[in-house]
Amino acid sequence: MTKASPGTDPTGGRPVVPSRGALRPLGLDEVRVVDGFWATRQRVNGGATLDHGRSWMDKLGWTGNFTAARAGAGEVDRRGREFSDSEVYKLVEAMSWEVGRTGSTDRDREVAELTELIALAQAPDGYLGTAFGGPGQRPRHSDLASGHELYCAGHLLQAAVARTRTGGAGPLLDVARRAADHVCDTFGPDGTWGICGHPNIEPALVELARLTGEQRYLDQAGLFVRRRGHQSLPQHHFGWAYYSDDVPVRDATVLRGHVVRALYLACGAVDVAVETGDGELLAAVAAQFDRTLARRTHLTGGMGSRHMDEAFGEDFVLPPDRSYSETCAGVAAIMLAWRLLLATGVSRYADVIERVLYNVVATAVSDDGRAFFYANTLHQRVRTVDVPTDEQQLGFGGGPRAPWFEVSCCLPNVARLLASLSAYLVTADDEGLRIHQYADADVDTRLPDGRRVALRMRTGYPDDGVVTVRVTATDGGGFPLTLRVPEWATGAVLVTPTGRRAVPPGPVTVRHAFAVGDEVRLELPLRPRFTHPDPRVDAVRGCVAVERGPVVYCAEALADEDLDTLRVDPGSLPVDVDGGVLVRARFTAPGERAWPYGPTPRRAPGAPLTGLRLLPYHRWARRGPATMRVWLPVT
Ligand SMILES: [Zn+2]
Repeated sequence: MTKASPGTDPTGGRPVVPSRGALRPLGLDEVRVVDGFWATRQRVNGGATLDHGRSWMDKLGWTGNFTAARAGAGEVDRRGREFSDSEVYKLVEAMSWEVGRTGSTDRDREVAELTELIALAQAPDGYLGTAFGGPGQRPRHSDLASGHELYCAGHLLQAAVARTRTGGAGPLLDVARRAADHVCDTFGPDGTWGICGHPNIEPALVELARLTGEQRYLDQAGLFVRRRGHQSLPQHHFGWAYYSDDVPVRDATVLRGHVVRALYLACGAVDVAVETGDGELLAAVAAQFDRTLARRTHLTGGMGSRHMDEAFGEDFVLPPDRSYSETCAGVAAIMLAWRLLLATGVSRYADVIERVLYNVVATAVSDDGRAFFYANTLHQRVRTVDVPTDEQQLGFGGGPRAPWFEVSCCLPNVARLLASLSAYLVTADDEGLRIHQYADADVDTRLPDGRRVALRMRTGYPDDGVVTVRVTATDGGGFPLTLRVPEWATGAVLVTPTGRRAVPPGPVTVRHAFAVGDEVRLELPLRPRFTHPDPRVDAVRGCVAVERGPVVYCAEALADEDLDTLRVDPGSLPVDVDGGVLVRARFTAPGERAWPYGPTPRRAPGAPLTGLRLLPYHRWARRGPATMRVWLPVT
């Protein structure tokens, strides 16, 4: 692979490139994950998961839909749901980041082949979509509420942005520009006053504007954001909140309705706010996300409490056994947190990204990369079942990791995130560098003043809390290096070339004239700890959870233990054992009664306290059928 000289391409290998903001993201050409927790997952993702996604999309006819649409004669024999085009686009996006990450010529060829397929389905006027407008199909844009046409177009644009930023400007970008022009022609100031039921076109148009310099795309994104919230879509049986069309974006106080829709819209609103200098809009979305984190987010960082509409619950409605926490919502929460981090520089958004990475993203995918969770429950009462590796699951609201779901949005979504993950680790600010996420990674970039700096970050994170950052190249002179002390890390210590000091949670900056070989070491205390819920989360009152560093733990039962009868002793602190955490707990014997309620509190006799081994939540359901719980009732 030909590697561009560090920092020379201002947009290279980055999913999001704001023209202004507190922080400038580094790209895949500047940060490379080389080993450890995420390198393993990136390898599996870049091989097995991408192959798996491609083979299922071929098998189910989702790629073939583009060929059928091109034929243009007779009724189109279209397969899959109306939004299946988007999954192909997301896969192309993931493959594009993979080309940037590894220089893989095989993936490059595959992207070219899929681009050819997609391009042939594009109408002469630029419209692209296989579910509408063909012979025997409903007219284009005749179902904005549920048709997902603009949503799909958004994923096409994002794929083209990814391929262009990994060195492949060409046919895919041409296709995307023509599709974006068609969107602007159709829905612009003089066109139809419409919005898509599923946001996504908004951040996509902004990113395409950032890439191409085309003002029209940014204006159109702004229009879509402003049009949202006026109840212009048909009344939905879940209410207008389902598609965030109940309240204008800048007037809302919290994210609500369908989680992924709300988060994608918020991403677009931040993008528009940043590019237009609309501080009020930026502050409004940040406040909505902050309130959502404070009241509507599970311990894992997962979002969504309602299966029926894949939606947020009301404040503090966070029942662990009804945690929807869609994998896509995890990806989308990272997308939003990343945008807010870049815009504001507030370190807490990097904490959110870390939490979601280790507890939603890492949980969702099987070790072999060929099965995944759609929903991520925090309490599995009924034992999971193994599902066949060659059958898609119809229900997508829960269940085990499955090779495929009828709606398989989550797998390519995780794939595009993992392939581009190294672009989420480090940023530059006005003077120096900021490290947000810890991994074995090599950084090679230029400071804002043009001086080259290379760093080697090494860590056993998240198992071990020591992070060492060594300067491996420098043009000389000092620069500030900022590290994030996570919100959970009390008692962290920073060791610099000039000394050793305790550091509180938040960003910590080392200003030094670094020479090659200089090291900064962050020592994060990784003692397991009890975590208590806000008393307003009724569903887990009287429970504790166990965390260690950024990782949430869980109890898992493979045999007959009834986790519903488990009681943990909150007086004995959890301790490390090899590969897990030990708590003192007992199983109780509540017995059976005809009626589960009574006039006095029910006390069940229990066995003596004994050691119970917990495992990282992201490791659950990998050893066979299991029950599991994250929140543990106390004795
Ligand atoms: Zn999904």
